[in-house]
Amino acid sequence: MGESPYRFISDAYGKNHFELDKPFISVLDYLNYDYRGAGLPSLGEFAGRDVYEVADYVDKVARPKLIVWSLDGERVDRVWLDPAERMVLEKLVGHYGVVRSPFTSGDWVRYFASIYLIGDPGIACILTVTNQTAYSVYKYGDEATKKRFLPLLTGEGAQVNGKGFMFGATWFTEVQGGSDLGANTVEALRAGDTWRLNGNTKYFSSDAGLAGAALVTARPRGAEPGVKGIALFLVPELDSNGRRNFSVRRLKEKSGTLAVPTGEVEFHDSEAILLGEAEKGVYYTLEGLMVSRLSNAVGALGIARKAYLEAYYYAKRRKAFGRSLIEHPLVQRDLLEMETYIEGTMTLTFSGIHHFQGTYKDTPPYTDEYHYARLLTHIAKNMTADMAAHVTKLAMELHGGIGFLAEFPVERWHREALITPIWEGSSNIQALDMLEAIAKKAAHQPLLSELEGMSKDIRGDAGRSLYTHSLEVLRKTLDTLSTLSLDEAQFQAKDILERLGHSIAVATLTHMANILDSKRILTVAHLYHTRFIRKEPLPRLRAEEISEVIEIDRDRGEQSAGRREVE
Ligand SMILES: Cc1cc2nc3c(=O)[nH]c(=O)nc-3n(C[C@H](O)[C@H](O)[C@H](O)COP(=O)(O)OP(=O)(O)OC[C@H]3O[C@@H](n4cnc5c(N)ncnc54)[C@H](O)[C@@H]3O)c2cc1C
Repeated sequence: MGESPYRFISDAYGKNHFELDKPFISVLDYLNYDYRGAGLPSLGEFAGRDVYEVADYVDKVARPKLIVWSLDGERVDRVWLDPAERMVLEKLVGHYGVVRSPFTSGDWVRYFASIYLIGDPGIACILTVTNQTAYSVYKYGDEATKKRFLPLLTGEGAQVNGKGFMFGATWFTEVQGGSDLGANTVEALRAGDTWRLNGNTKYFSSDAGLAGAALVTARPRGAEPGVKGIALFLVPELDSNGRRNFSVRRLKEKSGTLAVPTGEVEFHDSEAILLGEAEKGVYYTLEGLMVSRLSNAVGALGIARKAYLEAYYYAKRRKAFGRSLIEHPLVQRDLLEMETYIEGTMTLTFSGIHHFQGTYKDTPPYTDEYHYARLLTHIAKNMTADMAAHVTKLAMELHGGIGFLAEFPVERWHREALITPIWEGSSNIQALDMLEAIAKKAAHQPLLSELEGMSKDIRGDAGRSLYTHSLEVLRKTLDTLSTLSLDEAQFQAKDILERLGHSIAVATLTHMANILDSKRILTVAHLYHTRFIRKEPLPRLRAEEISEVIEIDRDRGEQSAGRREVE
């Protein structure tokens, strides 16, 4: 068949999205993560070719379609995916085992790194909600439920043709309120050994028509009102008689995330399996949301990276006023800002992932370390969402008029970025939850202790001054927060979150620069500090320094040196 003509409309297509991404490799080096052993280079090849092309094809040409009735007039409510999308998903699950590693080897970095490389939020959502479903079953399913569902949800025995695999789903939001989970009205009734669900208000149900089993929040009859009365159930697609267990009313018309079908689901005496204790359902739900919020963060980073790749390669080729775009100072400034913003929020996010990795088995009541991981998750979710909107906007702008055309990929990345502040708990909700983690759980204490401890690794005046100032801003922000009334704190919550996030990003970048002995990363930390903490104009660097930062695919000697042992 030859090469796909897609290469004529995309500069990012056909490249290995792992191997070219030296800043990402640095972050994994910093975590001392064996990315070659984890097979990320091979996934990077697949992500930069098949996943990239197919996700764009689905957006432009081949949307999922709900098949409601069979030839025999039976209600089936299944989603028909384009065969190319099905092939990509089967390969990601079967061959690359994307969902599997947290449950077989406790490796969450591989999972989140994979979502970053995939980038497309539709495909990423399908895998994320499946992972979340597996996570809740893994933690709170009884032995029979685990035995029946875990191997299917994780794709333990899945072949490339997808046999032995089941997609999951997480249906919490209802028409009357998504942020306000306590307003859930779907009702659960105990019937002997099993439970039955009733209600037609599940209003945003991703993977509807795909999922073999879904996590569903519902209120047991007689349970207390509000969020504490919510229990968490696993609802199989087919009941114990093999009949459809719930119906899909319709699929939504969305402006992005088209690869994942999102529908409205109705339960009519649907059989359900209670997970854990009914009274703790809200805690289990929030635990699962840690996974999806971190996924959201790496997904936003992936979106921004794809947009950056399109813009960077285009700027190298396109000429204006007799030289390539990338030679114009103002274009260099845009690319520096984009790259700096990506790398700062990336180190912050992977710090959250590192802490989640250490605490993912925690159950209520949680450890301080778990609350710290949660704090970083709220911050990373919002910071990356803002970053992705900004970076994708600039990437579009750097393409000039064609950036606005629906026929090329860069326009899609901006549309896709705009979901990231909304789902998995909107930005306001993350900011309010961050306040709660600080006020009620003192989650900022482990943060301060960790950053203070890391300061011993910082060498050189430039690094020390960056590190000290970012810690000062962090402490001052926390001090100010402690003087505010509840109303004032809520009013300022997003600004506070942003200041904390920027400070953590600079401190972590500076630490990483020291651990990896990287002048380039120290330059990025300096730029991030100037632009986002001091809010001053970016300094005009030497030409070589500029190229060092924006040419992310450039091989550098220091890259392979890896992590310096900390004395
Ligand atoms: C494409 C797509 C797929 C989705 N998939 C799923 C899914 O699979 N499962 C699922 O459960 N949900 C899903 N959702 C729903 C999504 O998680 C919710 O839309 C989101 O959590 C917000 O809830 P809401 O739409 O009810 O908005 P609301 O809760 O009504 O919020 C509206 C606005 O008010 C703000 N707000 C609300 N409360 C407060 C407050 N106390 N203080 C300050 N501001 C506040 C919010 O930040 C938001 O800006 C999906 C949504 C989309 C768009």
